[in-house]
Amino acid sequence: MTVTELIVITLILFYSSNLFGVLYSLVVLKTSIFTKYRIQTKPYKKGIFKDRLPLYLLNMLILTAFGVSGVYLLFPFFDTGLPNIWVLIGQVVFVFIIDDVWFYFVHRYMHRNKYLLKKIHSIHHRAHTPFPLEYLYVHPLEWMMGVVGTFIGYVLIILVMPLSIYAFWGFALLRNLHEIHIHSDLKLPFLKDIPLISPVEDHDLHHAKLDGNYASTFRVWDRIMKTRFNEKNSTK
Ligand SMILES: [Zn+2]
Ligand SMILES: [Zn+2]
Repeated sequence: MTVTELIVITLILFYSSNLFGVLYSLVVLKTSIFTKYRIQTKPYKKGIFKDRLPLYLLNMLILTAFGVSGVYLLFPFFDTGLPNIWVLIGQVVFVFIIDDVWFYFVHRYMHRNKYLLKKIHSIHHRAHTPFPLEYLYVHPLEWMMGVVGTFIGYVLIILVMPLSIYAFWGFALLRNLHEIHIHSDLKLPFLKDIPLISPVEDHDLHHAKLDGNYASTFRVWDRIMKTRFNEKNSTK
């Protein structure tokens, strides 16, 4: 496969998963189909999607730029053949772990450093009652910082073996869908019971209370670092 073909497929993946996020958000905001699954009871602010749109679009543009330059940069290290299933799963899980460790510590630091919290991270926390696409409502600098963890994961793999293009796409797609999921404010059947993965309530509570549950994917980091937060241990 040529680099142009890889870029086109990468962008199709990015845009289709975000289009799913847009449609999912509109259904959540404009209809009552998912109301019975909602975690919070507060109504959504009127016109919120339209208010958020400029920053969603800016961050999509940044994601596009990072996606294109990422494929260019990593192109010599990609294995574009069909991978062994265990190599594929191993590489995707490995990037998820590295990405989540990075996210955990950067996210926690942004809460402890009051300057960063006020100037940067507070933008994302305008969403007290999140809906799926709110994962894109982030200060552009924070958005760019988030990509660093993923990149470290890819580089660590490349130091040992070629990076499967299918692992690159698989991670990007699953990470995007996971972000849409944890901002959905919905406790959906089946999805709430995936083992090891942080349930929606964790990040939802983080948005509602601005405290604890700093991991995005794996709850274990909050357990180890004793930053797990739930309604029972709440002091607020
Ligand atoms: Zn936060
Ligand atoms: Zn969030």
